[in-house]
Amino acid sequence: MSKTEKKKVGLTTRIFISLILGAIAGVLLHYFVPSGQIRDDIIINGIFYVVGQGFIRLMQMLVAPLVFCSLVCGSMSIGDTKKLGQVGVKTMLFYLATTACAIALALSVANVIDPGIGLDISSIEAAKDVGSAEATNFADTLLNIIPTNPFSALANGEMLQIIVFALIVGIILAKLGDRVETVSNFFGQFNDIMMEMTMMVMAVAPIGVFCLIAKTFAGIGFDAFIPMLKYMLAVLVGLAMQCFIVYLGMLKIFTGLNPIIFIKNFFPVMAFAFSTATSNATIPLSIDALAKKMGVSKKISSFTVPLGATINMDGTAIMQGVAVVFVAQAFGIQLDMMDYMTVIGTATLASVGTAGVPGVGLITLTMVFNSVNLPVEGIALIMGIDRILDMTRTAVNITGDAVCTTIVAHQNKMLDREVFKNSVSKSNISGKE
Ligand code: ASP
Repeated sequence: MSKTEKKKVGLTTRIFISLILGAIAGVLLHYFVPSGQIRDDIIINGIFYVVGQGFIRLMQMLVAPLVFCSLVCGSMSIGDTKKLGQVGVKTMLFYLATTACAIALALSVANVIDPGIGLDISSIEAAKDVGSAEATNFADTLLNIIPTNPFSALANGEMLQIIVFALIVGIILAKLGDRVETVSNFFGQFNDIMMEMTMMVMAVAPIGVFCLIAKTFAGIGFDAFIPMLKYMLAVLVGLAMQCFIVYLGMLKIFTGLNPIIFIKNFFPVMAFAFSTATSNATIPLSIDALAKKMGVSKKISSFTVPLGATINMDGTAIMQGVAVVFVAQAFGIQLDMMDYMTVIGTATLASVGTAGVPGVGLITLTMVFNSVNLPVEGIALIMGIDRILDMTRTAVNITGDAVCTTIVAHQNKMLDREVFKNSVSKSNISGKE
């Protein structure tokens, strides 16, 4: 085996090892290294912070140009607006259906585990300053996807606005054909540059992941987990069921692909989402893994993955469903069937409104609580331990986008099964292929 081949085989494994080592290093630092300048200022808030955040920023740097260029190229090569419309509607339906299913699942799991019953609220140190989100006006939300200034949309990373503008540019490029060949080539080539850049950033992923995880675990006080164990368990069980039963079941039923191989191929992307808790930054990686390992055409994924990272947050919806039952039980508030239906509706909207960055799910949770008159102070109870759940639900959020994307690609004949088959023998995502 040549040196480069050896490197190829190792990336998934190296990311996995980094996750484990990062967690161990973080816990050891938290419990066994006395706090002081060396531990806190130099190691945790110095090296780990700078390297970890540097890595996230590198990934974020890719998002706006990559999404824009690959979406222009994707919609240009599909060309047909009717087909694009069909893909869009189908994807939205999948996204909404999986989110509603996620909340229903969360409410059921939480009612079995009863996370808030017998809880001594006074034993929990509540965090202060819960942000809040008002339910936004539907008409304005809809209008807001049209950018008044596409350049500011790009500059501010307004994903839905970028998607709309890129789709229009791509459709027009297809319509004008040879007349705009230079511009078409430009976007195609710029897209290649962005993909190459993604590969370069991925090469340092194991180091980035290690530092991010180590910093997070070094900062977590595990004592805070104890009164919250049942709540955490309910969220984790809900997330696992959504990921392994709902998604993988859907994948098998709709595409016939082997779910185990799918998860194995997608693991580095999940690990990245887990360590960063940021769906948005995961977009380039997800598009790449779907293309190289699952055979999903970028024409589809460049549209559906950024859309999903913006509006499809099933993991977040699960946390919100469990949080509703938890806080209702902790405060002794009885919820009826009507309340549960309301929660399914508002949490689906909250999932659409949750941005793919860390911790926003807790803020949009206020909207869900308000809809059934639960005390918003309840959110303060779960804030202290939310980070670890945020990481886990982000991994689920992006897996949901990837599964729906693969299904829609399959239904639109844009899934190359040979690539998936071949990935079985390679079984790892490489930095360069
Ligand atoms: N961190 C999540 C994401 O990026 C959003 C959230 O639930 O807070 O997908």
